[in-house]
Amino acid sequence: FADRDGWIWLDGRMIPWRDAKVHVLTHALHYASSVFEGERAYGGAIFQSTAHSARLKASARILDFDIPWTVEAIDAAKAEVLRRNDLADAYVRPIAWRGAETLGVSAPSNAIHLGIAAWAWPSYFDPAQRMRGVRLDLADYRRPDPRTAPSLAKASGLYMICTLSRHRAERRGFADALMLDWQGRVAECTAANVFFVKDGALHTPVADCFLSGITRASVIDLARARGLAVIERRIWPQELGGFSECFLTGTAAEVTPVGAIGDIAYTPGAVTKALVDAYADAVRPRRRAA
Ligand code: PMP
Repeated sequence: FADRDGWIWLDGRMIPWRDAKVHVLTHALHYASSVFEGERAYGGAIFQSTAHSARLKASARILDFDIPWTVEAIDAAKAEVLRRNDLADAYVRPIAWRGAETLGVSAPSNAIHLGIAAWAWPSYFDPAQRMRGVRLDLADYRRPDPRTAPSLAKASGLYMICTLSRHRAERRGFADALMLDWQGRVAECTAANVFFVKDGALHTPVADCFLSGITRASVIDLARARGLAVIERRIWPQELGGFSECFLTGTAAEVTPVGAIGDIAYTPGAVTKALVDAYADAVRPRRRAA
């Protein structure tokens, strides 16, 4: 992915894609002192850009560093990356990290860097295909106790167990893995939040030890605006057979119906379909205006 044309914003400058490199002794590479975002632009505009920039800054604070750019400056830089790369429908990846000035565990004075890349990633909206639903495995790893790791940050270090869980799921023939939390309750997938439907109401785990997704919040708003009840609560794996529908939410996943979790099958239905469509309308200002 490093060897291609394009421009990456790095510490305030546009750099040719191939030259946007870091040193081997970068603190973040050794000790995971980095935070990032994943965002999508639709028709040239990033959905919830400011919320993502604010979460990036907040994640950095949780990891004990300050990104030396304001939310407004980060929003402007992301827009510039889209323009410079001539992108309309794209994925946007900002990442902030501790640099290479010293390599001890303690490195409070190392420079903080910010990079922003974007690439074409059209939204996947073939409704028929999408409504078949993805199959989820159950992950072995659990989301850590907030006393064990900074669970609420979008911190690179937390993705170690996501990559491992996702690889295992894929080896076993599944699309992704559902992770439990440290207490054994349903938490989220490796890069998306999870919702269930029961008697027409949405049920979703309380986001107190995993990433509280920006898509999750948007979908909760869209559901409530349509008169659907949304219940945030503790959900135990023993309950999984009692739900009629299940779907995932995330910037990349958007609203993705789930067809099965392990042996338990779901049939994506009217509630899931309504929210797939509602989210598709919400992310595209021009469609919303039409
Ligand atoms: N959980 C994890 C672990 C994620 O990586 C993501 C994707 N950023 C989400 C949830 C969904 O978050 P969002 O809706 O903000 O993209």
